[in-house]
Amino acid sequence: MSEVAAKSAPTPGEGAEVREFPTLVNGEWLHGVSKPFDNINPADTSDIVGRFQASTAAEAGLAVAAASAAFERWKKTSVSARAAILNRAADHLEANADRNAREMTREMGKALNLAKDEILRSAQTLRFYAVEGQSLTGEVFPNDDPDMTVYTLREPLGVVTVITPWNFPISIPARKIAPALMTGNTVVFKPSSDAPLSGYRLVEALVAGGLPKGVLNFITGAAGEVGAAITQAPAVRAISFTGSTAAGEHICRSVGFTTRTQMELGGKNPLIVMDDADLDKAVDLTIKGGLSLAGQACTGTSRVLVMRQVRAEFTEKLVERIKALKIGSGLTAGMDMGPLATARQLETVLRYVAIGKQEATHLYGGERLTGAGYDGGYYVAPAVFTDVTQQMAVAREEIFGPVLAIIEVESYADAIAKANDTEYGLSAAIATRNPRVMHDFANDIQSGTVKINRTTTGNLINAPFGGVKRSSTSTFRESGRAGLEFYTQIKTVYRGC
Ligand code: NAP
Repeated sequence: MSEVAAKSAPTPGEGAEVREFPTLVNGEWLHGVSKPFDNINPADTSDIVGRFQASTAAEAGLAVAAASAAFERWKKTSVSARAAILNRAADHLEANADRNAREMTREMGKALNLAKDEILRSAQTLRFYAVEGQSLTGEVFPNDDPDMTVYTLREPLGVVTVITPWNFPISIPARKIAPALMTGNTVVFKPSSDAPLSGYRLVEALVAGGLPKGVLNFITGAAGEVGAAITQAPAVRAISFTGSTAAGEHICRSVGFTTRTQMELGGKNPLIVMDDADLDKAVDLTIKGGLSLAGQACTGTSRVLVMRQVRAEFTEKLVERIKALKIGSGLTAGMDMGPLATARQLETVLRYVAIGKQEATHLYGGERLTGAGYDGGYYVAPAVFTDVTQQMAVAREEIFGPVLAIIEVESYADAIAKANDTEYGLSAAIATRNPRVMHDFANDIQSGTVKINRTTTGNLINAPFGGVKRSSTSTFRESGRAGLEFYTQIKTVYRGC
């Protein structure tokens, strides 16, 4: 397919003929090289959003080879030329934001306004790295030899593989691919098989922006088939992965010690509600942090640790608000929560709801929704459990769905101990009016992101992002200036005259 055809491609599905989308290898859009698989709308499973190539390991290997062949030239391309490509790609994303947002909502279920925000934020990410990547410098070191200068250079690594999940299907790829390209690396990108179209649109924008052939390669298909080829190939110097802890750990263990990895993984994020908190605001933080995106944000609130004195009042307010939430397709304006993104997600959430009913006190929700508007999709009512204790599965395991576990705490110290009693450490929040507690919380909580009177979800594009413990490899942060460092290695030069 030509670039022009890609730019003017109609929105697939929605009554139109289902379009088959290609991979991109060495600048060639490849159709029909593999058997296609369907990208399904989780709000209406009869709606096929698009068909994507189920690439083979051999095809994935060609993508790595193309990225490898393109590296030397791209490395020598000027930073201003790289920046101009990112800026033109940002223009392209913005110009197609409405179409792309609709596709994103159809492929993974989030509300249309959130999908559009994500696309515009991805464009902003490209622009941010177009500027920030031009000022990434080395250092100069004082030394005793007047005829020698000692300094460091930051060099690109080579071929980097980017693997992303379905929940932020364009912003996560953008925040990985933009710094990789800006620092002179070439990329093999594999999006989630559950939401590949948004990733495709990012690739399309970068190609339209003028990216030379082979610099960015786009492979779709099952991880079991293509995963090893794009992670274990000797030419792959680094892997930036976002997804489940299990998959990240598997990839980390399967690659050599010289392969640099950046793994952003699961979470079990707490919100502590202190007895001095504004309870209406705390309820708001819980709902926005825990239920927007149907609980499918890596930083989503899943544990709510509430002081005993306010637990009854907080819980009553929370359940009342949750009962009033509007649940429906992300394409319908005014919905508070959409469907789960996949059949697998639905199965997982229903399984944990059943477990929660066995081990804790079930207050509300958790059932699959049926009837008009729901029958064709993966809808569940948000679930609330209380009397949750530290040993319970709903308190320990990442569910990644609209399931809230309320845990009673006796004091700030008890809250911190329970909040930290988890294998994860991605994001954590507290609702309080006490400045002393705010200060201590930032120091005491074991978490890569700390929020005070804000939702556990959400992060800036110009600030570092990542987790601790099993939420991340704790190697390099993503996002912001830190996001550039992962993609470069330091060379120290001693230059005499
Ligand atoms: P996933 O099943 O781990 O998949 C993530 C990506 O990895 C997909 O593209 C998947 O491909 C691929 N993959 C899986 N196993 C692989 C392997 N062995 N080799 C190469 N690629 C492999 O996760 P998900 O269900 O898409 O996303 C939900 C998870 O992501 C949650 O655990 C959530 O917490 C986490 N997440 C973390 C962050 C963060 O920043 N920390 C952000 C968002 C999401 P296929 O789709 O083809 O299987």
